[in-house]
Amino acid sequence: MAQIYNFSAGPAVLPVSVVHQVQSELVSYKNSGMSIMEISHRSSLYTDMEAEAEENLRKLMRIPAEYDVLFLQGGGTLQFAMVPLNLAKGNNQVGYIDSGHWAQRAIEEAQLVPKIKTDVVASAASTNYTTLPEVPKLKKQYDYIHLTLNNTIEGTMYRKLPENLKHQLLVGDMSSNIMAQRYNVEDFGLIYAGAQKNIGPAGMTVVIVKHELLDDKLELPAMLSYVKQAAKHSALNTPPVFAIYVAGLVFKWLLEQGGVEEMQKRNEKKAELLYNYLDSSSLFNAPVTKDARSLTNIPFVTGNAELDQRFIADAQESGLVNLKGHRSVGGMRASLYNAFPFEGVQKLIEFMERFEQSVG
Ligand code: PMP
Repeated sequence: MAQIYNFSAGPAVLPVSVVHQVQSELVSYKNSGMSIMEISHRSSLYTDMEAEAEENLRKLMRIPAEYDVLFLQGGGTLQFAMVPLNLAKGNNQVGYIDSGHWAQRAIEEAQLVPKIKTDVVASAASTNYTTLPEVPKLKKQYDYIHLTLNNTIEGTMYRKLPENLKHQLLVGDMSSNIMAQRYNVEDFGLIYAGAQKNIGPAGMTVVIVKHELLDDKLELPAMLSYVKQAAKHSALNTPPVFAIYVAGLVFKWLLEQGGVEEMQKRNEKKAELLYNYLDSSSLFNAPVTKDARSLTNIPFVTGNAELDQRFIADAQESGLVNLKGHRSVGGMRASLYNAFPFEGVQKLIEFMERFEQSVG
């Protein structure tokens, strides 16, 4: 089969060696005569695997002992509700940064949680989300401030946290850039990320939460309660065994490759190559301002919707697949997660140069 480069925003490309390893041990996991999908989540085969995955994630992200690490279900979307259900307690006032589509979904879900008052403390609506919102000095102390570290659709990303949020408790949605660059876990009260972009298959969500924020007197249904999930090591019910297993293999792969610093270096190289080309092209254009540009999701357009369609179709024929932008913004988007290879970016640029000449 011809080489395919998968630019999907998620579910997304996995390291080739990990997919091969899954294949090789699929029929008999650790010589048990059963696949990982067929074993009990109460068996040591499972609990050892889960413990190793957690330990490796702790190493990769330098997660301090006072944080719980949970592997939950329900995607990033369930976290939009779980975060306010669990963390909005003091004055029931929570703050949100409106940096784009997924931040807005988070706001909408928080507004559905009874008795909670949601303030949007900053928004990038006026630039159509091609910049990051300017966060003003905040007069109130909020239960937490929610921010989306990487805006998957719009292609903006916080390289550094906004100064004016320093004294607030931060909740970070890292669904599309977890471990793509180094963040300091201690700057956050809680971090969450759906696995299907930069970690593994869909079906598992990583939640990293400072234990002291959890209130064991809070009456919530068990599946919605961080404290109850933490007490049962994420196995309060049957966990997503296969997704956790593949994520564990990706964590090992990341450590072997040199960890988050090495990923950040590679991601910066890949992104720089593509942005430099986009900035010099007379056909293609990257709409996001330079200081807000994402390392992992790079939207671009020709300015002509029909030409965009043709580009996407022609690219697909050449093995450059899933370049279509999100339906809400159109155009193209190249997602360059940790497992996406450098040569895929080179191939994309060569193709774009040829396309540019053919229409010029
Ligand atoms: N947050 C961000 C930043 C996302 O990109 C997405 C999905 N694309 C979500 C949340 C929602 O994730 P899920 O589909 O896992 O619920």
